[in-house]
Amino acid sequence: MNMNTTIVIGAGPAGLTAAYELQKLGSKSVILEADHQVGGISKTVNFKGNRFDIGGHRFFSKVPYINQVWDEILEEDFLVCERLSRILYKEHFFDYPLKPLNALAGLGVQESIHVIFSYVAVKFSSQRKRRDTNFEEWVISRFGYKLYEIFFKTYTEKVWGIPCSSISSDWASQRIKNFSLKEAIINAFSNTGKNKNGEVITTIIEQFKYPRLGPGMMWEHCQRALAKQNNPTLMGERVTTINHRNNKVLDVVCRNEAGEETTYSGEHFISSMPLREMILALRPLPPNNVVEAARKLHYRDYLTVVLTVNREEVFPDNWIYIHTPKVKLGRIQNYKNWSREMVSNPKNTTLGLEYFLWEKDEEWEWADDRLIEMGIRECTEIGLIRPDEVVEGTVVRVKKAYPVYDLNYTTYLKTIESYLEGFENLQTVGRNGLHRYNNQDHSMLTGIYAARNILGANHHIWSVNTEKDYHEEGKLEQTPSGGRLVPIPKFN
Ligand SMILES: Cc1cc2nc3c(=O)[nH]c(=O)nc-3n(C[C@H](O)[C@H](O)[C@H](O)COP(=O)(O)OP(=O)(O)OC[C@H]3O[C@@H](n4cnc5c(N)ncnc54)[C@H](O)[C@@H]3O)c2cc1C
Repeated sequence: MNMNTTIVIGAGPAGLTAAYELQKLGSKSVILEADHQVGGISKTVNFKGNRFDIGGHRFFSKVPYINQVWDEILEEDFLVCERLSRILYKEHFFDYPLKPLNALAGLGVQESIHVIFSYVAVKFSSQRKRRDTNFEEWVISRFGYKLYEIFFKTYTEKVWGIPCSSISSDWASQRIKNFSLKEAIINAFSNTGKNKNGEVITTIIEQFKYPRLGPGMMWEHCQRALAKQNNPTLMGERVTTINHRNNKVLDVVCRNEAGEETTYSGEHFISSMPLREMILALRPLPPNNVVEAARKLHYRDYLTVVLTVNREEVFPDNWIYIHTPKVKLGRIQNYKNWSREMVSNPKNTTLGLEYFLWEKDEEWEWADDRLIEMGIRECTEIGLIRPDEVVEGTVVRVKKAYPVYDLNYTTYLKTIESYLEGFENLQTVGRNGLHRYNNQDHSMLTGIYAARNILGANHHIWSVNTEKDYHEEGKLEQTPSGGRLVPIPKFN
């Protein structure tokens, strides 16, 4: 292998975009991917001609360069979707983003008054003393206790599997940032999707792009564009060992499913594999405190039961949040409402039932048939389908879908980050690579920065998507198609 090559671990959005950016800059790469399909968590699964995502994947970014890359890769295959999503709580559907009249009608007079009083109460007390150390406090101090209880608590605890008081407020500030109840109400009437500073409120965007055949289509196109210029993606190659000496990675060892090992060497290394695994794969192993910090990073796992239902239209939403506590089901996707081409037979509908679990939960080990049975039962219980309408089902399990933001995770991350800073030719990128709750765009951005750093830039990858809005994102320069690196503004 050419020693100038960059070895990229993982063919998800971060790894593929890093290789794509390197290609634009005239530099070579080889991607090593454990799976047999590209796209990582943003892949599209094809089950008997019906396509589905690992949870619906919206394409939305405030970073112009990311939008440019998406358009470049996918060309005319992008659709623009109007979002419709609702919350199901106690047999009522609530529009999400919340609309005051709809919310009042669903809650009834008594509960609405309760909501208003608890909001006013918290506004008065929080003017004096706002506590934001965990998710529960963060939300209550902005929305009041009653709204928190109805619209945040059950769903959030289903997703994370831990009490809201044990979740870091970082998650809220990253996901619900620049958003308040006042703005929700103003937006419900004005429908601008922007806050008082004119910023787009990410959590309530009403329009987004979506590839005609699901998000995997984007990443398959990207892989093909790379292959055309001899930047291959090697499938079924799981990196198990990363050998290093004198602050430099020398090579990585991969194991395929047959147990055969291959060593790949290169000049630079970009890793999007989960940070915990990456640290534990290093040889020699890092100092004890770094290994211990890595072992304390946690991940939430995810499972989707996908049902093909023999009904042309089941509900009009792209997805529904299931707040109802009596079912384990957290969210339901209706893939046909993302793109009509996601279903093979227009008379059917494909529903993606989303369950958030720990690998150690007993349901994780259940046979697919039993999980499908649970899915049908729960969907029937909440009144969405009848069991006799289900034609068939399938199950996809995804380990480490969510990096967990517990109350101590930043301490562990700092230890790991400062250790990794000592490496001259190793960068970590992406969602699990940085243990950051990133969407595709921020995952891609870290890949782009890593590629540009190899060609002489000086981007601090760990800062992406941390401080409210990483101040340079919107200004990210485009790379000229000629392939030479343009000077990139420095910051710090
Ligand atoms: C339910 C859900 C819904 C989401 N919805 C959206 C959305 O609407 N919009 C959006 O933009 N984003 C969404 N996301 C986030 C999006 O999926 C991620 O940001 C994105 O996929 C992260 O890209 P990545 O490349 O960092 O990681 P991944 O997608 O995890 O890819 C990492 C790749 O590395 C490979 N790998 C891991 N270990 C090894 C190893 N040892 N050796 C070789 N290869 C390895 C994996 O197989 C994988 O292919 C959602 C995520 C989830 C879980």
